[in-house]
Amino acid sequence: MLRKLIAGAAIAPFIAGAALTQELSELEVREIHDRILTIDTHVDIPTGYATHLIDPNTWTRLQVDLPKMRAGGLDAAFFIVYVQQRDLNEEGYATARARAEETYQAIMRMVRANPERIALATTADEVEEIYESGRLIALIGIENSYFMGENIEEEVPLWAARGARYASITHFRNNQFGGSSNPDLSAGDPMEDPGLTDLGRRLVELLNDHGIMVDISHVGPQTSLEAIQMSRAPVIASHSGARAVYDHPRNLTDELLEALRDNGGVAQIVAFRSYLRDIDPGLTAAIAELRSEAGLDQPGGWERMTPEDRAAYQERLRALRAEYPDATVADMADHIDHAVRVAGIDHVGIVSDFDGGGGVRGWDDASETPNVTAELLRRGYSEEDIAKLWGGNVLRVMRGVEAAAVR
Ligand SMILES: [Zn+2]
Repeated sequence: MLRKLIAGAAIAPFIAGAALTQELSELEVREIHDRILTIDTHVDIPTGYATHLIDPNTWTRLQVDLPKMRAGGLDAAFFIVYVQQRDLNEEGYATARARAEETYQAIMRMVRANPERIALATTADEVEEIYESGRLIALIGIENSYFMGENIEEEVPLWAARGARYASITHFRNNQFGGSSNPDLSAGDPMEDPGLTDLGRRLVELLNDHGIMVDISHVGPQTSLEAIQMSRAPVIASHSGARAVYDHPRNLTDELLEALRDNGGVAQIVAFRSYLRDIDPGLTAAIAELRSEAGLDQPGGWERMTPEDRAAYQERLRALRAEYPDATVADMADHIDHAVRVAGIDHVGIVSDFDGGGGVRGWDDASETPNVTAELLRRGYSEEDIAKLWGGNVLRVMRGVEAAAVR
């Protein structure tokens, strides 16, 4: 056993449930971290993923790949089928549906190419079985149900059968199901969240019926509240912050944190710098200039970039962030502390949003994951509490959703 001896202090054994407030060495933190099943509920993937362009079984420019998960003891990740919000018409739906298909196929290519290293889990039990086998765990989440168009009676069962385990109602901009946390006023969205539409209510029912967690991240406050109230199963916020700590529309109000608690759900607190604290205006301006230079201020800009352009862009972005004071793991932990105070230790979790804009100083890729555990230990969370935050709570919510599904 590796213990850092502090002169004059008795060293308590690291028993689950005991508060660990003493100074721990990196190796001690790592021992605790490695005993915990860690689940990151939101990891995006780029175009070209799991092709000759990007092999996730190598140390890539991505924040998450299989070697970085191993290096950082990140056991499981929800890989995301994300589509950008477009207009509410058949053409928009068809374009988005094709994009969703591409992303899903890319996730499955990654899983199929590395059967001895990672496996797809579609239930909480499967997560634990794969963990026991020593492999990494892939799960599938949907960000923005928009691409299902109005065809949800067929799409929801299809995605459930494919193993998708959560689906957010909206992304940026309102859609056919309800209001977004970030409505687009220039596209005609009303200022006030209009709540769930009739189709949105049907979506929540279908997600419940088919064992998919309803996700309220990116969803407007009224739509979120209505979805939680009508859901027969626990609800997840897959990647959000706490509004009382930092006032950003993407963050959860205390009212929503309490609603998630009462529903048996979970609020996953995200390592997304601009949701956590004020960012230096100089940095914001520099990033805006870089984005416009790269064409990222135009719709579809990212899709138009070559892999080389994207790598160069990310390199320059990293360099800019190093120049200015940045959000840190401690800022993220402030949001976790608050969410735990309001909703309780059983209703909070941890998420990166890596490769989708997430990352803070100290947790800027999967290889740095033990730093989050270290910060929580420093704040006095017990190993048992940290295990809940890192995945125990999500597994409980998954089991609740599985139990509520129509068999
Ligand atoms: Zn997101």
